[in-house]
Amino acid sequence: MNMRKSAVVAMVLAVAVCSGCGEDAVSDTQSTVDDTAVSQDIFAMDTYMTVTAYGEGAEAAVDAAVAYIEELDDLLSIGSDNSEITQLNETGSGTLSDDPAEILSRAIEIAEMTDGAFNPAMYPLMEAWGFPSQEYRVPSQSELDALLPLIDLSGLMLDLDSGNVTLSEGMKLDLGGIAKGYTSAQVMEIFVENGVTSGLVSLGGNVQTLGTKTDGSLWRIALQNPDESADYLGVLELSDKAVITSGGYERYFEQDGITYHHILDPETGYPAESGLQSVTIVSDDGTLADALSTALFVMGLDKAIEFWRTYSDQFDAVFLTDDAMIYVTEGIADSFSSTSYSWEIIEEAG
Ligand code: AMP
Ligand code: MG
Repeated sequence: MNMRKSAVVAMVLAVAVCSGCGEDAVSDTQSTVDDTAVSQDIFAMDTYMTVTAYGEGAEAAVDAAVAYIEELDDLLSIGSDNSEITQLNETGSGTLSDDPAEILSRAIEIAEMTDGAFNPAMYPLMEAWGFPSQEYRVPSQSELDALLPLIDLSGLMLDLDSGNVTLSEGMKLDLGGIAKGYTSAQVMEIFVENGVTSGLVSLGGNVQTLGTKTDGSLWRIALQNPDESADYLGVLELSDKAVITSGGYERYFEQDGITYHHILDPETGYPAESGLQSVTIVSDDGTLADALSTALFVMGLDKAIEFWRTYSDQFDAVFLTDDAMIYVTEGIADSFSSTSYSWEIIEEAG
């Protein structure tokens, strides 16, 4: 692969792209001159992202990916007044472009698949807790009771062909639990369209990889430990996969000694208290991985294991419980290693 690229071209690329290169994304790759990394860091969707591609076509691929991410951010951003989602939330109806419509369609599908643990209409509840404005507060039970009917997805109509959406009175969408996974999946498509066979994208710690590293070895992806004073939970070695983590530790506030995090249980309107600190999903499908990381966090370990046994052909998972036990589903047991922790395998037949 890439053997025809001359050293001169590779050098030029290295100079051209390395202002602002994401060191972390490329640090565990064994590059040779022929395998120059083209890497760009951007801030979008409320998070730092790094897009890295290797070999021929890498520069065009990374440029196209960054342009795409910026465009998508403009369409989806809830912080921006003129994004399609903001407009829709304000007016209750509208026409979405292809990408937002596709994300919403997948979100609805996964809401059904997870029996409502994933819900793309959590925005009124997120607002009540002050997450979008960062003016955090604990809403009263009566306030939550009044808002819970607004997340009933029977009030949401999407016509995927036209992109037309209508929301019932007061309903508001929040695609924050799925948009990053969709984005990373699309970046992989952009890489492929540009002839790239090796690369990765990291979106706020969530990673999707294309192919293997340029020397043919597997990508090594470290799983973050919510306990920052300790080592990584472990390392996954794989190719062509999305690895997406949800955890209460990612966004939270404290009031009166109680911690309230940003993943809400659609049944109660409260931050999900499911006994899990984090859920990592590994899948070919980045969109699915993102939505399921959120949903399985809400479900808790027992329900999540049951769910995995039904859909084990579509994903694998690593769970970290509140009491610091790590569980790894059978399909990735051989890919996972941890030097610091003991862990258990969850088997297909329980
Ligand atoms: P993630 O980091 O992928 O788990 O996504 C968390 C984000 O998804 C939150 O910041 C909210 O914007 C949104 N969210 C919170 N609870 C849910 C839920 N139960 N289903 C879907 N999205 C949610
Ligand atoms: Mg998610």
